[in-house]
Amino acid sequence: MRDVSTAIRGGELSCREAVEALLERIERFDGRINAYLDTTAEAALARADAMDRGARGEGRLWGVPIGIKDVIAVEGAPCRCGSRMLDRFLSPYDGTVVRKLKDAGSIPMGRLNMDEFAMGSTNENSGFGPVCNPWDPAYVSGGSSGGSAAAVASGMAYGALGSDTGGSIRQPASLCGVVGLKPTYGRVSRFGLVAYASSLDQIGPITRDVTDAALLFDVICGHDPQDATSLQRQTPATSAGLEGGVKGMRIGLPREYFAAGLDPEVEAAVRRGVETLQGLGAEVEEVSLPHTEYAVATYYILATAEASANLARFDGVRYGHRCSEPEDVTDLYFRSRAEGFGSEVKRRIILGTYVLSSGYYDAYYLRAQKARTLIRRDFEKAFERVDLLAAAVSPTPAYALGACVDDPLQMYLGDILTVPMNLAGNCGISVPCGLTAGGLPIGLQLMGPPFAEAELLRAARAFEAETPWHRKQPDMAVLEQRSAEGA
Ligand code: GLN
Repeated sequence: MRDVSTAIRGGELSCREAVEALLERIERFDGRINAYLDTTAEAALARADAMDRGARGEGRLWGVPIGIKDVIAVEGAPCRCGSRMLDRFLSPYDGTVVRKLKDAGSIPMGRLNMDEFAMGSTNENSGFGPVCNPWDPAYVSGGSSGGSAAAVASGMAYGALGSDTGGSIRQPASLCGVVGLKPTYGRVSRFGLVAYASSLDQIGPITRDVTDAALLFDVICGHDPQDATSLQRQTPATSAGLEGGVKGMRIGLPREYFAAGLDPEVEAAVRRGVETLQGLGAEVEEVSLPHTEYAVATYYILATAEASANLARFDGVRYGHRCSEPEDVTDLYFRSRAEGFGSEVKRRIILGTYVLSSGYYDAYYLRAQKARTLIRRDFEKAFERVDLLAAAVSPTPAYALGACVDDPLQMYLGDILTVPMNLAGNCGISVPCGLTAGGLPIGLQLMGPPFAEAELLRAARAFEAETPWHRKQPDMAVLEQRSAEGA
């Protein structure tokens, strides 16, 4: 991202050329990856031309195209949230993050594939086909921001925005070998983000390296009166102190995150990563987050409950697919929703409606709220002793495509290392920390208390500066050859 920005600033590259370079790459590789649902080429080129004709602005992302997950509104562009339900929907306005990108001179470009309404961890729940992992297209990209992560990993985007409700930025970033930052709940405006689970959703950057993540985060964060959950507190830009290192920083290893089920290759890479931080002067100690075992159940009760309410608006009347020739209004609701939603979304609406129903509310929703408080307190206690926590992002590397489609519970359990942080409202980042013997990326997760993005990014940057992983890229020539052979 920075190299493109520098080239444009230096006059070596025009805004149009920056867009065209991506379009060429997308044309060449995306048939195999499926990261883009739409390139929005016309709008991107028009904006690029207008910028090339005008005076060069001062914006920090002047002329740099940024890929947008299909759940964030860009005026005049499709916003289908990876769902057939919104097949013909065009956004009437820009989300706040998009407006901020534009104010910084960036060119929002493309609609990046995702699990339908951000529900999933493999991108196989997209209504428009799965996203393949650029490191090996027989494997999943992760989800739900799989299109964003795969596009950045394969050089089809310079940087992208994703959203993270239970891991959807960090997990695909980890599985695709790129950097993904999930900011503190309330630090980035969600105005213009189609809601999945409103008490958990956050928008954040997916980039090639930590410096780019800090830059993109600094551009999109800040208070927004149009989002009632947006936080007021002013904080200095994270980019400024990025090179400060980790000397004296206290890093905790949550015992419960290194439990059974953690893939040995993932564990080894993460532990090596922690040793690297220790070698740079961080003090490492073990800590405990005792309520971790309840996190997946708590998350899947609260997220589905909120989703069942948020998705009620897609009824074929104001929003969403409308069935043909309904007999009456009930038939209209039934058939429009049955035809428009995919099976995972239906499953979650049914689950969410059940946990909220009067007979079961106390047993499920209310108890989950209490468990959420306990999980948040675990973090608060841990952060009295340490500055950051370190662990894996996903207990395993990318699954083979199709491995989990008939076993949603298995997929849910894979979210164990990412959902607790959303429940607590903290911030976290995934940075590349290794490759498996089979050549699939592994991510190191660093987690911080609310508002600790600067420390988080500083630690991640120190790690990155010491290790080669963020410079490794999938071999797109091999990918091309394999597609030509029909593999
Ligand atoms: N995998 C989790 C889910 O399916 C998280 C998704 C997300 O963060 N949007 O709900």
